[in-house]
Amino acid sequence: MKKPGSSPGLVARYLRQQGELGGAEFFLDELNRSEAQSLVENRAAPSPSIVAEAQEQEPDGYEALRAEAMACQKCALSKTRTKVVFSHGNPSARLMVVGEAPGAQEDQTGLAFVGRAGKLLDLLLASVALSRGKSAYICNILKCRPPGNRNPLPEEIQACTPFLSRQIQVISPQAILAVGTFSGQFLSGKAIPLGRMRGEVYSYQGVPVVVTYHPAALLRNPGWTRATWDDLQLLRQVMDGA
Ligand code: URA
Repeated sequence: MKKPGSSPGLVARYLRQQGELGGAEFFLDELNRSEAQSLVENRAAPSPSIVAEAQEQEPDGYEALRAEAMACQKCALSKTRTKVVFSHGNPSARLMVVGEAPGAQEDQTGLAFVGRAGKLLDLLLASVALSRGKSAYICNILKCRPPGNRNPLPEEIQACTPFLSRQIQVISPQAILAVGTFSGQFLSGKAIPLGRMRGEVYSYQGVPVVVTYHPAALLRNPGWTRATWDDLQLLRQVMDGA
């Protein structure tokens, strides 16, 4: 691991971030010093168009769709779930992030990406001046937790993704960030490995889609930090209209 630099403030912030993420020491791998610094300090040069605050208001039809999902019994996961995990973040946001499926903490709280992977996701979003409180809305391919966090089954994806399609329609985001293979394959329409999906801008229901690694996979594979950083820069370009 490269060292975070000699500034005590920077080191302190770095260690705090690492602590919050459970101690994984990989963040600065493969990034140059200024990139790593903006990740650690959460101060990538903000883009005026991205920073523009979303209106804190639910779009038409949102609550009805949410209520329908909360009562869903279309697949067997409805019998093992604790809570339906519809989303987290601002439903009027310009960015929608789509992950795979709720984990244990999400199943308990009913909120998407609140565990360790979620903390890393927040940090990655912050590196391109986005946040779930204001500019990002986060949801998943599946709204209910697969037991033991196993992979989603094809029939579960088929039963659940009509909710995602309608979520995208109602929220009408400016861009979508697909994190992980299941999300990437569904939103790009390509049944190929994630490594080959990256680097291109796809379109789902007319919304541009950028694909990157799932933050949980990134925690396990620090060597993918550089690629993830590049994907976020692509997302930012798309949102800037570049
Ligand atoms: N992983 C996901 O894909 N989604 C979550 O909500 C949490 C972990």
